[in-house]
Amino acid sequence: MISNSLTDPSKIYGIHIWSEENFIVEDGVVKINHGCKPSLIEITKKIRENGLKGPLFLRFPHIAAKNVRTLFSHFERAKREFGYTGKFKAVFPLKVNQFPGFIIPLMEATNDLDYGLEAGSKGELVLAMAYTNLGKPITVNGFKDREMISIGFLAAKMGHNITLTIEGINELELIIKEAIRFGAPIPKIGLRIRLHTGGIGIWAKSGGYSSKFGLTSTELLEAMDLLKKHKLTDRLSMIHFHIGSQMNHISPLKKAIREAGNIYAELRKLGAENLRAINIGGGLAVEYSQQEELSSRNYTIEEFTNDVVFLLKEISDAKGVREPTIFTESGRFVAAGHAVLVAPVLELFSQEYSEKILHLKKKNPPLVQELYDLYRSISVKNAREYLHDALDHMESLLTLFDLGYIDLTDRANTETLVHLIIKKALELLRHKPSKEIRDVLNRVQEHYLVNFSLFQSLPDYWGLGQTFPVMPLDRLNEQPTRSASLWDITCDSDGEIAFNIDKPLYLHDVDVEKEEYFLGFFKVGAYQEVLGMRHNLFTHPTEATVNFDEKGNFLIENIVEAQNILDVLDDFDYDSKEIERLIRQQIEESATIKDDEKKEILGELYIYLSENGYLRTINLKK
Ligand SMILES: *Cc1c(COP(=O)(O)O)cnc(C)c1O
Repeated sequence: MISNSLTDPSKIYGIHIWSEENFIVEDGVVKINHGCKPSLIEITKKIRENGLKGPLFLRFPHIAAKNVRTLFSHFERAKREFGYTGKFKAVFPLKVNQFPGFIIPLMEATNDLDYGLEAGSKGELVLAMAYTNLGKPITVNGFKDREMISIGFLAAKMGHNITLTIEGINELELIIKEAIRFGAPIPKIGLRIRLHTGGIGIWAKSGGYSSKFGLTSTELLEAMDLLKKHKLTDRLSMIHFHIGSQMNHISPLKKAIREAGNIYAELRKLGAENLRAINIGGGLAVEYSQQEELSSRNYTIEEFTNDVVFLLKEISDAKGVREPTIFTESGRFVAAGHAVLVAPVLELFSQEYSEKILHLKKKNPPLVQELYDLYRSISVKNAREYLHDALDHMESLLTLFDLGYIDLTDRANTETLVHLIIKKALELLRHKPSKEIRDVLNRVQEHYLVNFSLFQSLPDYWGLGQTFPVMPLDRLNEQPTRSASLWDITCDSDGEIAFNIDKPLYLHDVDVEKEEYFLGFFKVGAYQEVLGMRHNLFTHPTEATVNFDEKGNFLIENIVEAQNILDVLDDFDYDSKEIERLIRQQIEESATIKDDEKKEILGELYIYLSENGYLRTINLKK
């Protein structure tokens, strides 16, 4: 904004960097770059017309489907380029997003591809069985007990193309036991290898020797012996690794592929003649950054697919083995972009500073009087100078207060006048960007109270410092003038996205009592929904799916309203009927409420209890 590279308001929020052309800025609003290109603001307003206030979680199934197709088409392209004869298949790892509003449309939209689901728990395995078409791949990772392995055998009996990836020798022993009990068909067996290569980044714990998962070289040999002994070698069909999520560099993956490629070739030499696939796990990164220089990954999908195909071809050629089927389990890459959280701004904290609230005295301390004069006479010519003076005066006045020389009224007048001067100066200097003004702006931030819970909707911001693209949904042909800190509505001081000078967020100076202002948090479709926690009892926000018909018109479907207050309490094992009874009793027995008011009060309370816990409005004027 203020710096010259950012004077184009449509580019301030870096939409060209992170949106992969799924969203565009046109006519001052964010639009969905699909079909009739509706704007997010019109979709939001349409949904809110039905009385659904609070934050909205919007799903765009076409984006997730597009991401899967991008993955397939890039692998197919790389295969053609390098003359690779192995196949490409993929699964979606359920742990990234198990919500029906995401999974069901994804499976429907990709049923022409060799695309299935990956499960890491019994619950996820049941989902994988229900929603993967027969013949499409299912993979099962993570720790398994005998029961989970039995479910895998049942899936194989049902005709599913299922691979149980073992994480340790004990799991192979359980599979052997079940094979004896069930007989054929026996699920395919995968071996998770413990890489010597470590991952990088904040999610790196999945790879490397100290990883929670996978077989060492010695254990791989032991597994081969066990398989041979029980005549199950023909079931070994895949080796697998996963080096961690959101790989920001490509080099650890390249190392891991060399390692896995050589293990694949060695195991085939040892007699694993049906070993046909290398499953490279997930980790394909998503661009979350709104600043070019802070990019979240140092590679493109093109480079990623080229590297995987090229390296596996090179190793296969060198070792004289058939080129393996390439298998991926990319989750974040598929899911992140499909969802946007839209949250209304409830309040700008400096908005309370208006001339009306000044309590100037007949005789004010000289510095306060001077502030008032600055405020009255500020103009384009002197704005910078006056701004500096105002900030200096404020420092002095606050010191005077600490020393007991001015009173609370003087201090309040100081605060108000300084805010008024800053606002006026910013307005006057809007067209004269300078580093100095930016510095002032960055010191005097505006706090925006936003109707959402960071813990529920952006838990990785809180837990891992992961940032998400955020921008207003409209006014994108106006320069934003305020450095923004965002406050959520939980009463936790961690519920804040503080202004960060390295990745500054500038927002508009709006009067939310007069006009609505919505922020979009983008790329929240991976991990956030399921990791989201009900801190302060804020639950999953109201969700809606935006689909497009053949003509490109948009349809708002599957609206699921956020849980109401009593349902949330029920989920916490409270007895909501008992709560209702206790409250009714207190009202009925109350000596302070008049009898003829009791029914009305009870009725009003019931209405509140049947609504969700997000805030509706906090402005009395609306
Ligand atoms: C979590 C996980 C994935 C998904 O990783 P993304 O980074 O989301 O692509 C894939 N495979 C395994 C085994 C996982 O644990």
